[in-house]
Amino acid sequence: MANTLKIPNDMLPEDGRFGCGPSKIRSEQVATLNAGTTTLLGTSHRQRPVRDLVGSIREGLAEFFHLPDDYEIALGNGGASCFWEIACASLITRQAAFGSYGSFSAKFAKSAAIAPFLEDPVVYEVEPGSYCLPERTEYVDAYCWAHNETSTGVAAPVRRVEGSMEQGALTLIDGTSAAGSLPVDISQTDAYYFSPQKAFGSDGGMWWAILSPAAIERAARLEANVNLPETNRWVPPFLSLSSALDNSRKNQTLNTPAIATLIMMDDQVRWLNDNGGMDWATARCAKSASMLYSWAERSDYAEPFVTDPDARSNAVVTINLDESIPAYQVVSALRDNGIMDTGGYRKLGRNQLRIGVFPSIEPADVLALTGCIDYVVERL
Ligand SMILES: *Cc1c(COP(=O)(O)O)cnc(C)c1O
Repeated sequence: MANTLKIPNDMLPEDGRFGCGPSKIRSEQVATLNAGTTTLLGTSHRQRPVRDLVGSIREGLAEFFHLPDDYEIALGNGGASCFWEIACASLITRQAAFGSYGSFSAKFAKSAAIAPFLEDPVVYEVEPGSYCLPERTEYVDAYCWAHNETSTGVAAPVRRVEGSMEQGALTLIDGTSAAGSLPVDISQTDAYYFSPQKAFGSDGGMWWAILSPAAIERAARLEANVNLPETNRWVPPFLSLSSALDNSRKNQTLNTPAIATLIMMDDQVRWLNDNGGMDWATARCAKSASMLYSWAERSDYAEPFVTDPDARSNAVVTINLDESIPAYQVVSALRDNGIMDTGGYRKLGRNQLRIGVFPSIEPADVLALTGCIDYVVERL
């Protein structure tokens, strides 16, 4: 750039990573990669050291999420996007109802819509910037929505649709950017799934899912007699939840996982639990988020995108800028100063900033960020 705007060093955050996934990885997590070099990295995932590592993450997550009795933690490769296809293949019997209020919640509904062996989903939809939960619907056997809609910075409640259990329907919640940042009562869900590159500050490529006994039983029943001409249902081995669970119970995965991702995730789960677990992590995210929302409310050129304060996310904060201030210029000036990934979700196409405030991010750095944004905007 011809004339780069230079933010004074003493105003800059210590760490400039504010992305919504991949998100900041703490340097202590990266240091554990060195410690694990000889016994873990480059060794077999079927042998004891890596299996113990997976076991440690599963135990740590059970502690973090206050795992209810009989719930189990499964894992596999492919990210949360893969879990949508797993759910279509192995969890939805005939038809699902969806809450759709942004890119991520819409994508799962779309997968269900194109699965040839499922009936067209019932989709409850609102414009980006708010949320809507699926309502009680006759005949459906799964209710699905996202705890945190990462594309818009909207957080939705996680509680079962009234009457859904009597109906025998499962509740499948995309917790990808919420898990580790927002409080959740796992007993309100049958599958709470996420990827590790958001609050768990690791790399992408895996999915993790907390499964209820009802979800486990549903998958077993659905998969018992598939791939036969008369059942008209195809469950590719890669999308079999039962097989993922069999492997998970042995602290393994169906195919080879990224061991570095596991090492960094294990360190993060320990760090979260050692600091006070879900209560600590969610309070820290709430503190960071409220700094941004209150700064935007005070500002004469910025305002929170999500108008309903109860729907504002404490994991992903979206801030609209006045039309006279092109957000892309602010984002680019910040990036020139080492402050990364503050742009809005591309497909949403708003003049806005989007900032990840996951537990790894220091609240003091969030405060510094607001100062840097003001500094840049005053000089554009
Ligand atoms: C990031 C994200 C996904 C996609 O995760 P991948 O690991 O890239 O598949 C899905 N849902 C939500 C809510 C997300 O934030």
